[in-house]
Amino acid sequence: MARLISGTATAERLMAGLATDVADFSRAHGMAPTLAAVLVGDDPASRIYVRRKIEQCRKVGLGSIEHRHGADCSEAELLALIDRLNRDPKVHGILVQLPLPPQIDSAKVLDAIDPMKDVDGFHPVNVGRLSTGTGGLIPCTPMGCMMLLQSELPELRGKSAVVIGKSNIVGKPVALLLLEQGCTVTVCNRHTVNLPDLCRQADIIVAAAGRAGLVRGDWVKPGAVIIDVGINRIVGPDGKGGIVGDVTAEEIGHAAAFTPVPGGVGPMTIACLLLNTLQAARALRAAPDIRISDAAYS
Ligand code: NAD
Repeated sequence: MARLISGTATAERLMAGLATDVADFSRAHGMAPTLAAVLVGDDPASRIYVRRKIEQCRKVGLGSIEHRHGADCSEAELLALIDRLNRDPKVHGILVQLPLPPQIDSAKVLDAIDPMKDVDGFHPVNVGRLSTGTGGLIPCTPMGCMMLLQSELPELRGKSAVVIGKSNIVGKPVALLLLEQGCTVTVCNRHTVNLPDLCRQADIIVAAAGRAGLVRGDWVKPGAVIIDVGINRIVGPDGKGGIVGDVTAEEIGHAAAFTPVPGGVGPMTIACLLLNTLQAARALRAAPDIRISDAAYS
């Protein structure tokens, strides 16, 4: 029977450690590491996500500030807010909840965030650092995937990994992190030919396509480790709603281990956001005068 890799339990342990580290930082610097969350518009899902992130900040002692703007907020207003947050020494992490309303160019807004405060890890400077293996802030979901994978498989050198999905927020950064750890990585997308055969060769499958039950039991090599990132809302035969991943979980008993959905990668994403906020605060305090943003934007 495949072992279940619990993201819920791992995230709880991570949060407990974070609470101690945040308390140490706050004592040493006379202020808590602080996340500014920017919410534009009234998308109900975005509101819930931001509320959850702020609740979790409070749990570990991080400061948090929520900036809400109406759906008619202009790009210039939002850029002005980002500029203020970049300059505010009491703000260590900036998170802009996506999606943004259509009048705002999301890429322009994300590019305006100080890379040292970019706790989502989406800024091109952090993307570049990840791809060159030179540090920087790592996107939260990929970081959570790696923590769960390495809790089961600490040594990744020489393993063959298939990543299903090539998005900038999950697939590509996961692939880069796996490469950095010495895996041989195949990154797949919706045009990939022979996805089942590629998966059958893999020691590790990271499924991030957003397709319910895409990965079937006979795609999985015995003893493989499966990280299921997918979050798919489904309606069961009883008419009740639920959430499932990209992997047909009931067919992978012959795998070594897998992350469940829900309770796998999901809880790790927020925990890693909090970790990034602490990391950003430490880096800003350690090197306030060699800010990448100053060089890049002044
Ligand atoms: P996306 O839609 O941006 O990218 C999906 C990728 O999957 C694309 O590259 C596409 O080419 C590929 N793909 C789609 N169908 C495919 C198929 N049949 N075969 C091979 N490749 C296929 O999605 P995303 O933002 O990367 O998210 C992926 C999934 O992960 C979604 O279900 C999303 O909800 C979930 N997600 C979960 C978390 C979390 O915290 N657990 C965070 C982010 C995303």
